[in-house]
Amino acid sequence: MPRGQDLVSRRVRAMSGYTPGEQPTDSGLIKLNTNENPYPCSPLVVEAIETEAHKLNLYPSPMADLLRARAAEVYGVRASQVMAGNGSDELLAIVLRGCTEPGDVAAWAVPTYSLYSTLAETVGARAVEVEADGNVIPRGLAEARARVTFLCTPNSPTGRSLPLEAVAAFAREAPGVVVVDEAYIDFGGKSALTILDDHPNMVVSRTFSKSFSLAGLRLGLLFGHEDLLDELVKVKDSYNVSRLAIAAGAAALEDRAWMSSNVSRIRATRARVTAALRAAGYGVEDSAANFLWVDCSGQGGGKAVYDKLRAGEVLVRHFSASGLAQGVRVSIGTDAEMDRFLEVLDA
Ligand code: PMP
Repeated sequence: MPRGQDLVSRRVRAMSGYTPGEQPTDSGLIKLNTNENPYPCSPLVVEAIETEAHKLNLYPSPMADLLRARAAEVYGVRASQVMAGNGSDELLAIVLRGCTEPGDVAAWAVPTYSLYSTLAETVGARAVEVEADGNVIPRGLAEARARVTFLCTPNSPTGRSLPLEAVAAFAREAPGVVVVDEAYIDFGGKSALTILDDHPNMVVSRTFSKSFSLAGLRLGLLFGHEDLLDELVKVKDSYNVSRLAIAAGAAALEDRAWMSSNVSRIRATRARVTAALRAAGYGVEDSAANFLWVDCSGQGGGKAVYDKLRAGEVLVRHFSASGLAQGVRVSIGTDAEMDRFLEVLDA
């Protein structure tokens, strides 16, 4: 009998796989580790899901037509420039699947969202990781001449955003696809959607998981030139987005006032917590996202601070990767949650 390990490809066996942030079942914890929105989604979304639940005997629209049309309206693009996915993670995977051959280069600046590396490994792409350089795109990224380049803005875990002019200049020179990952764009920074039409090699990914409070739904959008999307459709599952997600996403886009009001609250809390942490001696960068990168090198390092918070029932994210070990990433929760976070940190 062959062992399970021997049945998978060499490439997959060599992978370590992505480690998602912890999703604890203990509801007593204050959860500031995976950049979820602390506020609930719009009641219109719940209503849309309840209505749609009566039609679950039928397959969904393969291209999520209702959502696509609504997104086109809201974001000022043509419906043919929109593709929906089961979370933006799926859309990032679809881009790599569609645009690389094994051995092709996929590139990004580090530190960034570590899933890029796992997704590149999955398709056998050769990862080129270039050291990030503040708010500019590092030279080495252009020199990589990648088939697929990821630009994450605002970036995780740093919260830095790239100037739109830099993204445009990079896309103009890039020989391959440039994926602008805008998972956190509603919290700050300028969207590349405004320059989409000028760059046929650029795609922009968005998610409903953060600003729209729908992480549990799994829904993302990819915007790009129709010639490119028409090809990418071939490598997506035919019914990749459920009826519930299509209806919910369309309703969420209808009620953008709900999202904006939550975003405003989170930005206000972000400013307050940034100031409080700086006053307490922590190094904190200005963040354009719904989280803060907190340098804890003066407080015994990221792991020590993570452990202390965890003992106080506050869960943040610590990355052991070199270059990140000295800090923690803290999602912005409600004001009450952040007060408790500051209290435990100070204890
Ligand atoms: N991009 C970045 C930078 C992220 O941090 C995340 C969330 N972990 C995603 C994409 C994926 O979001 P989604 O929930 O839409 O798959």
